[in-house]
Amino acid sequence: MTQVVLSIGSNLGDRLARLQSVVDGLGGSVSAVSPVYETDPWGGVEQAAFLNAVVLAADPALDGRGWLRRAQELEQAAERVRDERWGPRTLDVDIVMCSSGGREVTSTDEELTLPHPLAHERAFVLVPWLAVDPAATLTVAGERRSVEALLAGLDPADRDGVRLTDAALS
Ligand code: ATP
Ligand code: CA
Ligand code: CA
Repeated sequence: MTQVVLSIGSNLGDRLARLQSVVDGLGGSVSAVSPVYETDPWGGVEQAAFLNAVVLAADPALDGRGWLRRAQELEQAAERVRDERWGPRTLDVDIVMCSSGGREVTSTDEELTLPHPLAHERAFVLVPWLAVDPAATLTVAGERRSVEALLAGLDPADRDGVRLTDAALS
């Protein structure tokens, strides 16, 4: 059984519908969905605010590559156009981490890096993840850390840029 933590985000068009399309597309594989947050853009490109959430999912038939393919299919279904790095997008689906048989899967491939190399620096990933799994841990530089501690170590301004909304995914 492989389990994944997915970070999903949208800042173009009907943002909530784009996030919902991931939950709908994954169907019975979804085990939990975080609240929806509105977040300041990350990475220095001037653009509209994002909606972000974290989805926990499991599927015995998918390995890391299989999950990447599923993620990219969902982005394509949302008519994602790849333009500038960290620029606006209808839908982004990142695999934050993957575990198989209870063990974290690691990959150093550029096409699939696991755990995601920047997840631990991003409040828009850690805040929703902690909300949906208060006991979550992530390996950073070979060390297992609690998501709670990673979040506490971020700049407070980054945490303040992640705001809980009334919107919910079903
Ligand atoms: P970032 O990865 O920093 O959040 P991004 O999401 O904007 O940036 P994309 O343009 O969506 O980047 O993806 C670029 C490439 O990243 C993809 O083609 C994919 O092969 C690769 N990639 C590597 N590791 C992962 C991962 N863990 N999850 C999703 N994509 C990944
Ligand atoms: Ca991303
Ligand atoms: Ca991505």
